[in-house]
Amino acid sequence: MTPPDSLPVPPSHDDHDLSATERDRILAKAALFAPPAPVLPDGRREIVGLSREELTEALVAVGEKPFRTKQVWHWVYHQGVTDFRAMSTLAKPLQEKLAARFVIGRPEAAVVQTAADDTRKFLFRFRDGQEAETVYIPDRREDRGAVCISSQVGCTLSCRFCHTGTQKLARNLGAAEIVGQFMAARDSYGEWPSPHGETPRLLSTVVLMGMGEPLYNYENVAKAMRIVMDGEGIGLSRRRITLSTSGVVPMMDRCGTELGVNLAVSLHAVTDELRDEIVPLNRKYPINELIAACRRYPAASNARRITFEYVMLDGVNDSEAEARALVRLIAGIPAKVNLIPFNPWPGSQYRPSTRQRLSRFAQIVTDAGFASPIRTPRGQDILAACGQLRTDSRRERPAA
Ligand code: SAH
Ligand code: SF4
Repeated sequence: MTPPDSLPVPPSHDDHDLSATERDRILAKAALFAPPAPVLPDGRREIVGLSREELTEALVAVGEKPFRTKQVWHWVYHQGVTDFRAMSTLAKPLQEKLAARFVIGRPEAAVVQTAADDTRKFLFRFRDGQEAETVYIPDRREDRGAVCISSQVGCTLSCRFCHTGTQKLARNLGAAEIVGQFMAARDSYGEWPSPHGETPRLLSTVVLMGMGEPLYNYENVAKAMRIVMDGEGIGLSRRRITLSTSGVVPMMDRCGTELGVNLAVSLHAVTDELRDEIVPLNRKYPINELIAACRRYPAASNARRITFEYVMLDGVNDSEAEARALVRLIAGIPAKVNLIPFNPWPGSQYRPSTRQRLSRFAQIVTDAGFASPIRTPRGQDILAACGQLRTDSRRERPAA
């Protein structure tokens, strides 16, 4: 309705500007928790985690021509070498020169545990002693699986059912550390191409569902994913990458437009009252704003549906009425609903839903036309399942 001429026109409410401000605030906060510079005490610089442009700059700065980037990139990300002396297309003196100035690092696998179901959990230690966990989850039906990667050491959010949420944020992981988790997992399975032909690729999917909230560390996560997707290196398609967020609404559009990866949204409740309690970020970005952001998520389609994650907590969020409310809430979104049986951890206050409630809930969602797979807990015996990851932070939170 147009206001009558006599009334002053209220200032226009520009949502776009508002969320731009909010995005700047989130990015500024992320910078407070930045990882240390990827430089060794001897001055050598870490190559992994540099964008192509940064790699070119680094090579040019030591007197090399820009075309070297392609060669080095291929060795690092396609062949997976960790020693410049193995780069056989480079002349010996150049190999030595690069080795004196750069390093191709990996996080140190401090502990590796393999569960009864072959899920493998890595405790990775980074250069400053901080640690994060990474999980490889083989798919039983196929010869492949997903690498579940952490984006932060700890988490600023404290979802009530999540073990990581009990660990305060120590710092964000850098791009080198995020890509490094995937590369080190690949090392562990001997999955880099062999000179004798194709190597089977078990590690074929990346899920950003480990420790931390990836959209609170967007720049490093984005940089790492661009490296993973680069066709002349690891070459994973954006369809093989899923980023899970607890609902950082202002960053969701950017993620869809710039990265185009699959989105998983940790919904877990259908009323603000309950979600405020179990996913406290909801107080900032309530359900209607979250669902609106899902509706406009640029990379979603019928072929690439948004996954709504819903942890099934006995007697808390698992009633039939809530299942019906859920399907009304997400009606019209190309979506599937991943029902996650609650994975207990030491000190947790919830119980997993009974099998009967779980299947009744799933049935209602399926009948409404949404696929609703129940996520089989994997690696529970080694605390590797969803929401069970936690490490000891090595440093106090820096003063904000
Ligand atoms: N911070 C991001 C990604 C990491 S958590 C997010 O919250 O989406 C990955 C998934 O595991 C999320 O859906 C999270 O809600 C779920 N989760 C956390 N704790 C869990 C638990 N104890 N049992 C089952 N799922 C859990
Ligand atoms: Fe953080 Fe995700 Fe755990 Fe919530 S569920 S505390 S956002 S890691």
